[in-house]
Amino acid sequence: MNTRVYLLSEARGLSRDLLGGKGYGLAEMAQAGLPVPPALIITTEACRRFLREGAVPGLWEEVQAKLAALEGLTGKRFGHGEGVTPPLLVSVRSGAPVSMPGMMDTILNLGLNLEGVQALARATGNPRFAWDAFRRLLAMYGEVVLGEKAEVFEEKLSALKERRGVVSDAELSPEDLEELSFQYLHHLEARGTPFPMDPWDQLQGAIMAVFRSWQNPRARTYRRIYGIPEDLGTAVVVQAMVFGNLGEDSGTGVGFTRNPATGEKGLYGEYLRNAQGEDVVAGIRTPEPLERLKEYAPELYRELEGVALLLERHFRDMQDFEFTVERGKLYLLQTRAGKRTAQAAVKIAVEMAKEGVITKEEAVARVEANALPGLLRPAVDRDRAPEPILKGLPASPGAAVGHAVFSNEAAERFNAQGLPTILVRPETTPEDITGMYLSRGILTARGGLTSHAAVVARGLGVPAVVGAEALRVYPEEGRAQVGGLEFNEGEVLTIDGSTGEVYLGAVALVESAGEALLQELLAWAEPHRRLGVRANADTPEDAQRARAFGAEGIGLCRTEHMFFHEERIPWVRRLILARTPEEEAEALERLFAFQKTDFKEILKAMDGLPVTVRLLDPPLHEFLPPLPDLEEKARAGDEEAQALLERAKALHEQNPMLGFRGVRLLLLRPAIFRMQLRALLEAAKELKEEGFDPRPEVMVPLVADPKEVERAKALAEELFQEYGPIPFGTMIETPRAALLAAEIAPLVDFFSFGTNDLTQMAFGLSRDDAGKFLPRYVEEGLFPFDPTERLDEKGVGRLLRLAVEEGRRANPRLKLGLCGEHGGEARSVQFVADLLDYTSASPFRVLTARLAAAQAGLKGPKALAR
Ligand code: PEP
Ligand code: MG
Repeated sequence: MNTRVYLLSEARGLSRDLLGGKGYGLAEMAQAGLPVPPALIITTEACRRFLREGAVPGLWEEVQAKLAALEGLTGKRFGHGEGVTPPLLVSVRSGAPVSMPGMMDTILNLGLNLEGVQALARATGNPRFAWDAFRRLLAMYGEVVLGEKAEVFEEKLSALKERRGVVSDAELSPEDLEELSFQYLHHLEARGTPFPMDPWDQLQGAIMAVFRSWQNPRARTYRRIYGIPEDLGTAVVVQAMVFGNLGEDSGTGVGFTRNPATGEKGLYGEYLRNAQGEDVVAGIRTPEPLERLKEYAPELYRELEGVALLLERHFRDMQDFEFTVERGKLYLLQTRAGKRTAQAAVKIAVEMAKEGVITKEEAVARVEANALPGLLRPAVDRDRAPEPILKGLPASPGAAVGHAVFSNEAAERFNAQGLPTILVRPETTPEDITGMYLSRGILTARGGLTSHAAVVARGLGVPAVVGAEALRVYPEEGRAQVGGLEFNEGEVLTIDGSTGEVYLGAVALVESAGEALLQELLAWAEPHRRLGVRANADTPEDAQRARAFGAEGIGLCRTEHMFFHEERIPWVRRLILARTPEEEAEALERLFAFQKTDFKEILKAMDGLPVTVRLLDPPLHEFLPPLPDLEEKARAGDEEAQALLERAKALHEQNPMLGFRGVRLLLLRPAIFRMQLRALLEAAKELKEEGFDPRPEVMVPLVADPKEVERAKALAEELFQEYGPIPFGTMIETPRAALLAAEIAPLVDFFSFGTNDLTQMAFGLSRDDAGKFLPRYVEEGLFPFDPTERLDEKGVGRLLRLAVEEGRRANPRLKLGLCGEHGGEARSVQFVADLLDYTSASPFRVLTARLAAAQAGLKGPKALAR
């Protein structure tokens, strides 16, 4: 029989996948000589088997044997006190291989029953503590294992406090807590789910509940958002309890070896005196900063500093650890690589490399490239900001403006209308994940910097202010209060997650300056990057910004955006309406002048670097007003509207995305083609005369057949005769173009993969409409991720690979790029890093593309993107 249960001392060398993050961290800490309460770990393998088959043969015998070993190590008996020796009580916790904070369930004080309470009271000389431990166990067990709602227990507690006329739990007497325990017991009995008095039954029930909690909706949602595989399973850690609530010389806390918001080096964290760990994590009481320990427990503070140092040295990364002090003695209960903001991630990686803890390459590999745009998040414009109405803790940096919402439902409602939201809650729980995910910012009244709200917001990269104590939130009534001030659902708020300040109304924001440390990291990354990085930009401002972020040219300039200008659109409409060649020529002449000016500015901004201009792509009717507007005006006798209406009806398509657009339009309306290309060539010519070094390239969209490319090239060559040639390329964005790459490649200088359209057409899903079902597809596990966001390697990637291989074979000088939205998504960039010459990303994501490409380089060629 395989071993599936290990003591910490037996777990040496076993993987995190098997032990889960929590079990692994405990085993490593025990090995490093840190004080860890004895524990046993049930592996993820047992969980997977349990979820598959409903039982794990031999598991209980193994657990029993290891439990006996725990009894030996602690000198206590599970569930039974003897004389002045208290019973061995355990915590039962979940621990997946990947950290999933708050997503899974925990039970404390397990093993306690009526007899045990007496023994615990005797042993500690503290009946209040014993009954408090029991009522906590009953509530947790009742919720997690027996399936009762947490509120039922909370209500009974509140009612008792009210009857006694007290506000805090601490004011309840031992007799009160005993009474409460019996209320809980009777309630569970009455609902047909009695609490098991046998400690062993308790343990079995709890272990199975942890296994099952892997499947709970919160856990599923979290996995979906973070792309964590469904089949990992969770380990279970059964650990001897230590108590932080045995008096003022006890307590519990969370420490970070560096500041998770800023990355600043040094011990950082929070401590709650005379409390159990759950009180901190749940944000129910607001803890004090660890710093304060320096004043009243300096030795403990020094000890924690030593722990932090040792943890970092051992794990070679910033750690987030939980600890409990039981009557002055420190115990470590958990450690893991700490979640951090993008800003902290960069600072920590760079500084650890400089300290020699990790290599520069490790520093480069460690930073999540997709998080970089968050580094450049806007901040409140201090000079123009009014007085804040409220101040809380700065939990996740960046500023956000949005409409106040108090529930998931409201967040969904507002966002469905395209209105950004700020989620406002008393505190958050895993139940709130949908609202948090949808919102631009998060504001809570309670909880510290390590509360659920803070941890999750940082992970999501969403600005957050937590523990704003002056705030009273009434979610059911859709309102909140700060002193005499009240705000309701829908009212606009601005929060600043870097300072903790909250403002009523929309406050002006300023874009943050590029980070010096980020530049340093990117400088280390650059030598490992082989893939070129360009930008998708169609204005001179975007081009400049992209260049400042390190773009090596423009990979996609969508020229239609230049048509949408207020003063230009009438000329586009005239072009569409033109009945005679003269009318068409006049409209084209005007548009030519506009385009030439734009091209000059963009080429200037990218002087000396390639600028790929894509000729007109969308169907013409996109430039006409919506049909209902035209109909209304036409009815009112507007003649121009009448003419436009007729044209609009003639041009109307059921399926414009698959319609008369791109190369199809350009070939059948060649005057537009000529006008655009001439504007580009003329712009370049003038710039050259002015002493600049413009590098224009031209490409045609949406081709599906070599004949189209041939015809387009012939058109281009007419103008090349006059101005001299520039690189001529095509987008590969229909599946057929990818399949016929070998025939197309000899006709062009470059391919640029339009993975937006290629994905749309490969999947047969509409870019415009897929939002109605794609999120649910991902939620239900039908797709592992949203393919419009991250490149689908299996299908779309296969088309791409085929076109690359056959295209290169047919034309060895062929240049290859990618310019769909995937060009700025880290995993997709890593996938194409060895296949293509360059990727092209929106300006902010140029940084992501650069880092991701370097990370791919570090993994070596052909490394699979994970
Ligand atoms: C594409 O299809 O990937 C592309 C870049 O073009 P657009 O998004 O403009 O269709
Ligand atoms: Mg396209």
